[in-house]
Amino acid sequence: MKTFRARLFLILAALVLPLLLAYCATTPYTGRTQIMMVSQSEELALGEQAAREILKEEKLSQDPAINAQVRRIGERIAAVSSRPDFKWEFFVIDKDVANAFVLPGGKVFVYTGILKYATDDAELATVMGHEVAHALLRHGAERMSMAMAAQGVGTIGAIAIGGAAGSGAGQVFAQSYGLAANVGVILPFSRRQEEEADHVGLRLMAEAGYDPAKALEFWQNMADDEDAAKRPPTFLSTHPATQDRIENIRALVPWARGFYRPRTS
Ligand SMILES: [Zn+2]
Repeated sequence: MKTFRARLFLILAALVLPLLLAYCATTPYTGRTQIMMVSQSEELALGEQAAREILKEEKLSQDPAINAQVRRIGERIAAVSSRPDFKWEFFVIDKDVANAFVLPGGKVFVYTGILKYATDDAELATVMGHEVAHALLRHGAERMSMAMAAQGVGTIGAIAIGGAAGSGAGQVFAQSYGLAANVGVILPFSRRQEEEADHVGLRLMAEAGYDPAKALEFWQNMADDEDAAKRPPTFLSTHPATQDRIENIRALVPWARGFYRPRTS
């Protein structure tokens, strides 16, 4: 099945290759060439619209301490990032799910259920750095672009999600984000995107003044919780805390520490 899908994707990619060459971008930090058929302004508008949908559906945490912590860490990381100009916002959804996700353009959602794995700000900075990295690297728009290329949709056209989920761009967006099925549930990024977000996230947390070695503790906390592993959908199902992943992060910690800047506030 996988091979078939991979082959189908290659055939489709070959058919639209001339188009793809015209629609490429380079990722910040890692310099990777990515398919990009969505403009930054379209991406931001879609992200804003999806955020509004999610905020209608989900119950936000009213705990001032938790909200302050998530916002404090997120804002510090966003401030040192390559796009401090994004309209970053950090929300806490009151639900016992070990998850977090980001929408294009910088709306980050953290579920209260993930907080128990982060014993302090630096450990939680692992999650925030990872999510901020997904947005900076435009992984959502990249996924959308891949879906558009596969479906032969040339432009995103009218921005339409939710009610107009049947229309071209809206459908692609809904599929990319799983919004049609369940607002707020995002299809997993590719493994490569996940590794890239880990990598850039470590650097971001270091630049924001958090010891990147704390990321190992966060992931180990998740890996040690067998109960969480049995309860999908969680951050774990899209972000497996495998020993491989932890080892990859361990190997990157000395590099990330080179970016460490002590906090001034
Ligand atoms: Zn991720």
